[in-house]
Amino acid sequence: MFLIESIPAEYRERAVKTAAALSGIDDVLIAAHIHPDGDALGSMAAVGWMMQRAGKRQVIYAPTGIPENLHFLDLPGATCHSLRDLPFKPQSAVYLDCSEPARLGEALGADYDSLPSVNIDHHLGSSGMGSVANFVESSAAATAQLVAYVIAASGQKLEGPVGRAVGLGLMTDTGGFCHGNTTADVFELCANLSRNGCDFAHMRENLQKTWTLGRMHLWGRIFTRASLELNDCLVICVVTRADLAEFSCSRDDVEGVVEWLRRLRKARIAAIIREDGRKLCKFSLRSFGDDDVRAIAAALGGGGHRNAAGGTLSASPEEAKKCLLEAVEQIGVCGCR
Ligand code: AMP
Ligand code: MN
Ligand code: MN
Repeated sequence: MFLIESIPAEYRERAVKTAAALSGIDDVLIAAHIHPDGDALGSMAAVGWMMQRAGKRQVIYAPTGIPENLHFLDLPGATCHSLRDLPFKPQSAVYLDCSEPARLGEALGADYDSLPSVNIDHHLGSSGMGSVANFVESSAAATAQLVAYVIAASGQKLEGPVGRAVGLGLMTDTGGFCHGNTTADVFELCANLSRNGCDFAHMRENLQKTWTLGRMHLWGRIFTRASLELNDCLVICVVTRADLAEFSCSRDDVEGVVEWLRRLRKARIAAIIREDGRKLCKFSLRSFGDDDVRAIAAALGGGGHRNAAGGTLSASPEEAKKCLLEAVEQIGVCGCR
């Protein structure tokens, strides 16, 4: 069992406090950032299972749905897409992997402070939006890591669906345990998950063996179209709605491709711009080491981490690309000023 004593000292006290805060709430609405990734969904599921095991009512709120490649994860009940058809009237909320109310989605974002709330997150620059407790620690590799410590502090075991949910968050936010955030603490926690039945190889198969031929062809298009800009500092590619339609792809099919652009030997920053609507683009940025892409994302109203950041722009794909190039140049992350 992952004992309280196993929680790294720098997190222990706040994990215990957060566990106490969670034990004091019931009828819980559980939410994370919209378009959930593995960490957002894994964290929601883990907290949901934890609450259910403690005999509490809980519901996972996912206004934009669950991406298809994450459907394999066992959830503690049905998820809810609208605040209007929740199975009960929530008396409290837990906000996970989310640093700003706006990223909870429009409906909840506008009303996030009407419920007493607990916030667990690892985004840099997050001030903590929980009214009852905040466990915000940017040194954590994943929100799921902090959630695991809270569950351990509450005396529950990290096994079964809880262990798999935590494992999913850690595996995805560390890029399969090789990003710079993969600390000894992560390995120690994951060793415990593995001993308790979390099968990481099976999880990888679930995550990866989901592609359509259309997606493979779309990625081919993206690699072919990628270009080097700003003295080879930046590799960038724009994906339009027409591209997605041509290959019968959804926006989720673009997820992850930016990790591959970052492999280009010359470039220090990799960027993908995805057209999501008329005058609406999502951008994703990646780098290695000291090149801080969060600063670029933040200048454009987004956020994230030093080597992985993103945001949205109210702009056409061409305008978004121009905006991004200007921001990279202005911030001069890699001396391309
Ligand atoms: P993505 O490019 O969507 O994979 O996001 C990379 C990282 O940046 C993740 O940690 C996201 O949670 C974070 N991120 C993406 N968009 C935003 C945003 N609008 N505000 C704050 N953080 C973001
Ligand atoms: Mn996330
Ligand atoms: Mn995360």
